[in-house]
Amino acid sequence: MTRRPVEIDERLYERSEEKAAREGKTLTQVIESYLRDWVESGEPGTPPEEPSVPPEEPSAPPEEPAAPPEEPAAPPEEPAAPPEEPAAPPGEPGSPPGEPGSPAPKPPIREEIYVVRPGDTLVKIALAMYGDASKYALIAEYNGITDPWVIWVDQELRLPFTEIPEDIPETPRTGRRFQFPLRVTETPYFKFGDLYGSGSRWAGKPHPGVDMHEEKGASVYAIGEGTVVVNRQEPTGYGHYLMIEHELTTGVKVYSLYGHLAPDDESFTSPPVGFTIRGEDIVIGKEGETGQAGVPHVHFEVKKTDQLGLYPMINEYNLHTYFYDPYAFIRDPSNCYVPV
Ligand SMILES: [Zn+2]
Repeated sequence: MTRRPVEIDERLYERSEEKAAREGKTLTQVIESYLRDWVESGEPGTPPEEPSVPPEEPSAPPEEPAAPPEEPAAPPEEPAAPPEEPAAPPGEPGSPPGEPGSPAPKPPIREEIYVVRPGDTLVKIALAMYGDASKYALIAEYNGITDPWVIWVDQELRLPFTEIPEDIPETPRTGRRFQFPLRVTETPYFKFGDLYGSGSRWAGKPHPGVDMHEEKGASVYAIGEGTVVVNRQEPTGYGHYLMIEHELTTGVKVYSLYGHLAPDDESFTSPPVGFTIRGEDIVIGKEGETGQAGVPHVHFEVKKTDQLGLYPMINEYNLHTYFYDPYAFIRDPSNCYVPV
């Protein structure tokens, strides 16, 4: 069987430039402003050293030269969060509802790693990850952060979960498991992390998804409920592809991408951007070979915005999107989506 490289990212930067242009900027300006945010919201001047701070010593920005808590360079969207956040009642963070007074946090059932992004504050992260801004204190305590207003971009925070996270009250978030987009899940084609061959522009770089093949024209299913955020027909690269946004029970957003789909025709029309995918039998496309495919297959990717996957890439949708092994993602029973 062929095991050929698939040129999927041919136009990624070009599209990023197009998006930047629509916002009246150049891609360089976007990246510059991103880097500026990075420097200004994190540790000024020493980004390369940041990743080497061991997670075991999270209180360690001791060399931190110039990040006073009053740091006025915080992004404008976060003007006055501190005053609104009264200290959490003692023992409240992390305590299960049945033991309101226990000051010793229970050992977490599980942990998630959150990578700090530009504009983040602990309050914002607590709101996104726990649905409760006051949990900022839990995150600070758990990571040994003495000053909750000093965090830096790309810092890895460990988030403890002692129970199913409380969520928006009116929506009981009983999550559902994801499914594979094709009924045939094992193929000899490119796997996640396989390296592109020497003939490719991406030579030596890892394949950020998995190539699945059932047969040309086979139904491609959404992996779970969500919203279509991209439905595009490219002459090369992904060809005809869809991206669907899903929400995990943790509140984290996940994006599934299905590439090289057959073009829409009289017999089948793929769901448009904004379409809500419901149920488990929603066909979103047909296996094809549009774009840089070579042979019929579906290039399937999963990206999580909260977790460092294979490697970070700048793309048009999110400057900090991370790819994640699709097999591992689908098979992990703790990854459940919120029905929409
Ligand atoms: Zn592929």
